[in-house]
Amino acid sequence: MGESHQVHIFFFPFVASGHMIPMIDMAKLFAIRGCKSTLIATPHDKPTFLKSIAKTKDDGFDIDVITVTLPLKEVGLPEDCDNMNKVTTVEVRKQFFRAIKMLDQQLERLIEKLAPDCLVSDMLLPWTTEIAAKWGIPRLVFHGTSAFSIASMECVRLYEPQKRVSCDSEPFVIPNFPGEITMSRMQLPDVYREETEVTKLLNVMMESEKRSFGVIMNSFYELEPAYADHYRTFLGRQSWFVGPLSLCNKESEDKAHRGNQASIDQHECLKWLDSRQPNSVIYICFGSMANFNVPQLHEIAVGLEASGQQFIWVVKKDPNVEEGKEEWLPDGYESRIQNKGLIIRGWAPQVLILDHEAIGGFVTHCGWNSTLEAITAGVPMVAWPVEAEQFFNEKFVTQVLKVGVSIGVKQWVKQFGDSMKSERVEDAVKRVLVGEEAEEMRRRAKALAEMARGAVEEGGSSWSDLGALIQELGQQRLAHNKI
Ligand code: UDP
Repeated sequence: MGESHQVHIFFFPFVASGHMIPMIDMAKLFAIRGCKSTLIATPHDKPTFLKSIAKTKDDGFDIDVITVTLPLKEVGLPEDCDNMNKVTTVEVRKQFFRAIKMLDQQLERLIEKLAPDCLVSDMLLPWTTEIAAKWGIPRLVFHGTSAFSIASMECVRLYEPQKRVSCDSEPFVIPNFPGEITMSRMQLPDVYREETEVTKLLNVMMESEKRSFGVIMNSFYELEPAYADHYRTFLGRQSWFVGPLSLCNKESEDKAHRGNQASIDQHECLKWLDSRQPNSVIYICFGSMANFNVPQLHEIAVGLEASGQQFIWVVKKDPNVEEGKEEWLPDGYESRIQNKGLIIRGWAPQVLILDHEAIGGFVTHCGWNSTLEAITAGVPMVAWPVEAEQFFNEKFVTQVLKVGVSIGVKQWVKQFGDSMKSERVEDAVKRVLVGEEAEEMRRRAKALAEMARGAVEEGGSSWSDLGALIQELGQQRLAHNKI
């Protein structure tokens, strides 16, 4: 595509790792397909963004990062409250969203100066629909989850089945939704259970989505055809399925530089994995937001050891506690598991790990990125949902795709997981790693992984959907320039 016909797109993620990582991948993908991609980051995140796009840029693709500054002081928040994972109370969340909304004028100035043809922005930035309309460019919404989960949540929002059950644990079927999927009120995000500030934001988000140009999905059609169709036809959302986005990272180097700085050297990690048999290691990681308390971490440690399986376990680092002296660590644990387990404190190069043939299972909180990364790697899951839309993803993995088992969590708890005993951990790890059921799940997972790769190859469904979208944006731009 020649310079004069190049479509220029702004990519504006929400400031949380689970939102920024797929948006960066998406910007790379569009650049590789001939667009000019401009990512919007805070000055704090800019170096991480630059590192993630360095190879794409070096390869000659048109991609860059520009910045907006969060007015944290103006809303009474400390300067280091610059990421959603630092938001721990309802009051801070309110102020944080106020600061985000106050980015509107900075965004307008950037649009005026750089004249993009399209704005792709996170679902949590609904106010960007009006700004895009003001400047005569289309806005595409990025939800960062599956069609299954967006459409099921929209059916819950619209038809309110949760209001017709007598108690929090009584199951209900999601109305007007394929597949007889049951949920309970306890598993729903708080916004569907009580009216809060965030309920208002959710309604604003869904209304702004209807007024936007369409929705771009980190998923692929063959993974969820019934739900992709439902979202498009029943709920009437124009949408393009262009994932799995993580597959744009082909080399180990790209995979290792996704998100934050890894707390383990990638070569050391690969060396450890190389010395293990295929499908013999369980990987445990709960994403960038979820936290577990000391007793729960202790139960996980005990359960993992009792399972007798090899493992890589990612635990958030507590900067105030010396490594190896953490309260949750059973006495003498690390020396006992020396040859069996690897504990990574901090950030793991997740995709690099999942893609390794030694990994046979993944204990996950069912964040959509992690879920899709596991599907893409052909790895069965133990579903341990915590918050957000993770209970919906759990249903999708265990009941629709049948590539995972539930650990049995009943209760949605903001950021801090519901508690599980060590025996549950031990059983679930064994179930997903060894035996006939595990083999069956692995076969299904490998078939999905193949489909995922096929979708992003030239001529595949995601490849074609992306091409169609870029073409449509090109036409929009021509129509706009004629006016
Ligand atoms: N991730 C990673 N290393 C970690 C933790 C997370 O690379 O130690 C990445 C993971 O690969 C995924 C993202 O962070 O791309 C987490 O997104 P997800 O939707 O799974 O969960 P969230 O963090 O939003 O709860």
